[in-house]
Amino acid sequence: MRIGIIGGGQLGLMMAEAAKKYNHIIVGLDPNECCPLSHVADEMIVGQYNNKELFKEFEEKCDVITYEFENVDMDLVSQYEDKIPQKRAALFYSRNRLTEKAFARDLNIPTAKFLKYDKQLLFYPSIIKTTTGGYDGKGQWKISKKEDVDQMLFDSNIEYIIEELVEFDYEISVVASRDSFGNVSFIPIPVNKHRNGILFTSTVFDDIDSLIVSKAKEYTTRIIEDLDYVGTLAVEYFVKGNQVIFNEFAPRPHNSGHYSIEGCSVSQFENHILAITNQKVMKSHLINPTIMINVLGQDNGFIEDISDSSVHYHDYNKTERKNDRKMGHITIVSSTISEAQSIKNNVIKE
Ligand code: ATP
Ligand code: MG
Repeated sequence: MRIGIIGGGQLGLMMAEAAKKYNHIIVGLDPNECCPLSHVADEMIVGQYNNKELFKEFEEKCDVITYEFENVDMDLVSQYEDKIPQKRAALFYSRNRLTEKAFARDLNIPTAKFLKYDKQLLFYPSIIKTTTGGYDGKGQWKISKKEDVDQMLFDSNIEYIIEELVEFDYEISVVASRDSFGNVSFIPIPVNKHRNGILFTSTVFDDIDSLIVSKAKEYTTRIIEDLDYVGTLAVEYFVKGNQVIFNEFAPRPHNSGHYSIEGCSVSQFENHILAITNQKVMKSHLINPTIMINVLGQDNGFIEDISDSSVHYHDYNKTERKNDRKMGHITIVSSTISEAQSIKNNVIKE
């Protein structure tokens, strides 16, 4: 099939790599002609995502279209929804933190207490976030008292949400893939650690309480089915005691699922491609304990000495190196988690 990918970042690149296994043709749409996807796409359409003529030219070249990020033009997605299995609803809810959390709450999935930000209705400790456009912890401020709020500079054109700061035990994400026949497949659940608000590591081995796993999968199934979503989707949760608390979802493969390329029998990207090309998703199991580490612009050079067959480095081939920009990731797959951890400690110091 001819698969169109909106967005040429690392997710688009890894979707295309998975699609090549099935001999699909890839057409990318991105403003940057040297984007990561350009290295594997058969054709790139270079220009702005909301350019209607360009989008039509792109759409005519494709049998099916997928997006790798949330800020796609909603009018264009609505217009061409028949060709976009991920559909409109998932984008609609996930692009605004208020609609996203209200959506989860309406499905009876626990969320942290949240309100549209209003200076008359403050509570502490809390976290104030912009409702749209935030990623990698950008546009978020932790608040513990009224003075913290007084010092903040609010933009009157921007909408904010205030959320209870959850004192979680740990964070997980559930990465699920649903096909057009209604089958849902999960990759094993990673435990995620952040560094300055950006995902740092995802660690996967059989250590999460089975009650937590079944609740998290059940909530995620509710979400993916309600959205009638086809493709791979990820939901982030906080775990506190035996509570599983919804944080947010991403209607696309997710950074915390990258480990599945080497760590699982079927990756999040392969199941995404199977789903959107009208095939059945496959069951996926963990091959061995796995740790994924994100490599940011400032981490330059730290992987130079690695010559270990259990270490896999993915370079996204980005032209410009910047602080906090995701440049690649490392996956360590080893027979025991302690061995994987000691390899990780040689690769990067926390
Ligand atoms: P990303 O794009 O990396 O997923 P984001 O910018 O969309 O992140 P969130 O996922 O909401 O934003 O927040 C980033 C991190 O900040 C969370 O993974 C968590 O560690 C922390 N965080 C966010 N909201 C809360 C909260 N209500 N309580 C406690 N910690 C929080
Ligand atoms: Mg997040």
